[in-house]
Amino acid sequence: MATIGWIGLGNMGGPMSTNLVKAGHVVRGFDLNPDAATRAAAAGVTVVESIAAACEGADAIFTMLPKGEHVLGVFGAPGGIWESASHNAILIDSSTIDIATSQKIHDASIDQGFSFVDAPVSGGTSGAAAGTLAFMLGGAPGDIKKAASFIEPMAGKIFEAGGPTMGLAAKIANNMMLFITMLANSEGSQLAEQLGLDPQVFWEIASASSGRSWSQQTWYPVPGIIDSAAANNNFNASFAVDLARKDVGLALDAGRDAGINLPAATLIAEQFDRLIEEGYADRDCTLVTKFVNPDESLRGWNPEL
Ligand code: NAD
Repeated sequence: MATIGWIGLGNMGGPMSTNLVKAGHVVRGFDLNPDAATRAAAAGVTVVESIAAACEGADAIFTMLPKGEHVLGVFGAPGGIWESASHNAILIDSSTIDIATSQKIHDASIDQGFSFVDAPVSGGTSGAAAGTLAFMLGGAPGDIKKAASFIEPMAGKIFEAGGPTMGLAAKIANNMMLFITMLANSEGSQLAEQLGLDPQVFWEIASASSGRSWSQQTWYPVPGIIDSAAANNNFNASFAVDLARKDVGLALDAGRDAGINLPAATLIAEQFDRLIEEGYADRDCTLVTKFVNPDESLRGWNPEL
């Protein structure tokens, strides 16, 4: 049994930290949002009043925060992790953030004698609750091994992606592929219907053919085909447009830094921006399908609801 500090008890951090409690660890959790803290306390997390208190006696300290600026603040602020943690603790960031900020945290952690690993996750809130997330770890091999021993109760799979920031590199490239295949489903589903195909018959053909993808299996944007699709639910979010835009933006920034062209990712970012301008930031990202039809009508979508 270990003592684990946890900063960020939101949609992901709440259920993830609960799985550490279930595994027998003491989790000292902190969140600025009182509702998130209350939910975590009800699930067995020892909620404390500051980052410094969360770090007290911790063998490992996790961060699960929205963006790079939040993570950097939690590490570097007065009373933050670098000021409060024991040098024996392994520091693990599971947030999806930009590579440049994560590199800064790696460098500053090493300079100050800490061990730090970037460890973003895939699998969503359902994977967080079930303890089946895929973790992608970047850092020094010894630090990765140490981090993995604490991550195990939250994970379906743990990947050693490579050196510092390679976990994030994997996460960002993976999510870019997800949104590009989502756009393929947006256009393919509408073309199939316009050509007179029965949607169920076409979905089954694509499932057994080269059009198959994770998003085609999970997010197919036509009502009545797959239970998990937001098309059955007036495009209420299972993965919100603003979060999807953040992830594609991280890929575009990384591509710009690397000096490569990402035209498909640029296109999907433009379509997300259009939805955001129209006031649909909190709807499901598969709502881009409405742009296929010139009048923006879409089966399953009623903007009045
Ligand atoms: P969330 O907004 O539900 O949770 C973030 C929490 O951090 C909030 O409760 C917020 O109050 C807290 N917080 C912010 N600043 C803080 C600070 N300075 N000190 C303490 N607490 C602070 O977000 P989430 O859905 O849990 O996502 C967290 C990260 O995981 C994001 O980077 C997201 O992109 C990534 N992610 C999310 C999903 C998903 O399906 N939701 C899946 C994979 C990865």
